[in-house]
Amino acid sequence: MATIFTTWQGVKARMGVAQRQARRGNGAVHLLAVSKTFPAASVRELYALGQRAFGENYVQELVSKAAELADLDEIEWHFIGPLQSNKTRPVAEIASWVHTVDRLKIAERLSVQRRETTPPLNVCIQVNVSGEASKSGVAPTEAAALVRAVARLPRLRVRGLMCIPEPTGDDERLAAQFATLRGLKEQLEREGIALDTLSMGMSSDLEIAIREGATMVRVGTALFGARN
Ligand SMILES: *Cc1c(COP(=O)(O)O)cnc(C)c1O
Repeated sequence: MATIFTTWQGVKARMGVAQRQARRGNGAVHLLAVSKTFPAASVRELYALGQRAFGENYVQELVSKAAELADLDEIEWHFIGPLQSNKTRPVAEIASWVHTVDRLKIAERLSVQRRETTPPLNVCIQVNVSGEASKSGVAPTEAAALVRAVARLPRLRVRGLMCIPEPTGDDERLAAQFATLRGLKEQLEREGIALDTLSMGMSSDLEIAIREGATMVRVGTALFGARN
C-alpha cells in the first residue's frame, strides 16, 4: 500500500510537471488536501510532512476534526462543501477559507459571524461553469455582481473564483469549463477587481486545470485513497 508520503510526493510531482509544461513558475499552484471522510489521524500524518491546507465538505466533520487537531498551530481549514445559511457560524469561526460562496445571504452571515480577533475570512465565489441545473454556483453572467457585493463586506476578503466542472471524460470540454472561470477572473481584473485565486482541478483533472490557470487544486483521492 502506498504511504501518505508517497502519494503526497506523487501529487506534488504531477503538479510540478503540469506547471512546467504550462510555463508557470514553481509555486504558482497551491495544493489543498481534501481530507473529507478521512480520520483526523490522516490529517495529522500529512501535516507532519509539511502540508498545511486541508479541505472539508461537511460542517460537522470540520468542527470535530478541527477540535481534535487544535494542537496543530499552523493548520489552515478550507470549507469546500455546500453551505446552508443556518450552518455558517462554525465555518465562520473555524475556517480560513470558504470556496463555495454562491449567494450574498451566505456571505453576509459569514461576515457578521467572523470573529474580530481573527483575520478576515478568505472566500471564493463558486461559479456554475457547466450550466447544469443541479449544480451549486452562481451563473457566470452573475458572478461579477456577486464578487462586487461580497467585496464590500467588512470581515470577508474575496480571493477568487471556484468551480466544479461537469464530470466528463472529454478533456476539451473540461478545459473549456476551466477556461470560462479564468476568463471571468480576467474580466473582473479589467474592471479593476484584483483576484489572486482560481480554485479548480481535482485528483483526475489537475493537469488540465493547471494548464488553464488554476492557482489552487483540491485533491482528495490521489492523496488519501478512495472514499467509501
Ligand atoms: C471531494 C472534493 C474534491 C476532491 O476530489 P477528488 O476527486 O477526491 O480529488 C475537490 N473539490 C470538492 C469541492 C470536493 O467536494
